[in-house]
Amino acid sequence: MSNLASKGRTIDYLRISLTDRCDLRCVYCMGVDGIENKIDRDSVLSLEEIAQFARLACAEGIKHIRLTGGEPLVRLGIVGLVGQLSKIPQLEDLSMTSNGQLFSKYAEDLKIAGLSRITFSLDSTDANTYRKLTRGGSLEKVFAAIDQALSLGFSPVKINVLAYQLTENDLLEFIHLMKEKPIHIRFIEYMPIGHMGREVRKNPTPPKSLLSMDQIYDSINRLSLTKGFGELRSLKTEEVPLGHGPATSYTLDGSQGSFGLIGVHSQNFCKDCNRLRLTADGKIRSCLFSDLEIPVGAELRANDEGSLRTSLFQAVSSKPLSYAQQQGTKRAMSAIGG
Ligand code: SAM
Ligand code: SF4
Repeated sequence: MSNLASKGRTIDYLRISLTDRCDLRCVYCMGVDGIENKIDRDSVLSLEEIAQFARLACAEGIKHIRLTGGEPLVRLGIVGLVGQLSKIPQLEDLSMTSNGQLFSKYAEDLKIAGLSRITFSLDSTDANTYRKLTRGGSLEKVFAAIDQALSLGFSPVKINVLAYQLTENDLLEFIHLMKEKPIHIRFIEYMPIGHMGREVRKNPTPPKSLLSMDQIYDSINRLSLTKGFGELRSLKTEEVPLGHGPATSYTLDGSQGSFGLIGVHSQNFCKDCNRLRLTADGKIRSCLFSDLEIPVGAELRANDEGSLRTSLFQAVSSKPLSYAQQQGTKRAMSAIGG
């Protein structure tokens, strides 16, 4: 039973950003010098404060927690935090989104500590393009991370593909990957938030390389038919992998994996949104696109459970039913927790 409900929606999913720092500098997420308006180190929640917030949120109805950032694996003590969170009795599912660069260092310990599933971000299957998009990332490390996660039994293993600079060749590679491995690929529409939103407002012509979810569907459909991979079919509800969120999901006959399309602009998914976010500096955000934030750092430091609970309910009740497609939140994606 959840006590967290807002305008007909049950809120049972919490994304926790552990840090706004990252070992990569993806062009759509950060400037070349990293994050603008870096979170001051003194205001970053301690791991104990994060765990305390999570325990209270789970007691009120949160069942799924995703750890994100910035890059969650650059946060010292990550394995210990996973261990603390996985012991929360009401928590059904603990996942993480990572760029995969540091995964091999922590993979086994994360599994033992109780992380159940993992999503890797991978926006290009070409090593050069990937390196340029991420300003220095290694494609080889992401592929190694995917294989290691599968062999350790993380389930499901997912890949987030931001449709920022996708080519037909990438789509073909992703079809092969889906055929050969039980992975779930989520194509995500680019959202102009943070500094990118402000740039879009100055120059409202979107980059030509952006693909819509309809274009991706049409290309995969055409490629799979012309290359003899068979027809796309929609996944039945019971086949949809855990945590697929607001995606429409498909597979190809004979494939071990599947793919989903997350169209933020093309579909209004607010009415089904079950999420809250906790930023690394202790602010509850009830909507990715809204700058309305409820601070809980002081309550956590004072161990004031009553005020903390009040703030949690306040955040839930202020969750908007539809966003005005704000072009540019004050924070960048890495500081909100993507
Ligand atoms: N560093 C980790 C990673 O990249 O997986 C976790 C944090 S990252 C902010 C989480 C997700 O947000 C990534 O899959 C990334 O592609 C996505 N993301 C970042 N900026 C975005 C934007 N402007 N629009 C849509 N998705 C974005
Ligand atoms: Fe880092 Fe993830 Fe942002 Fe890329 S998308 S810069 S990996 S936080």
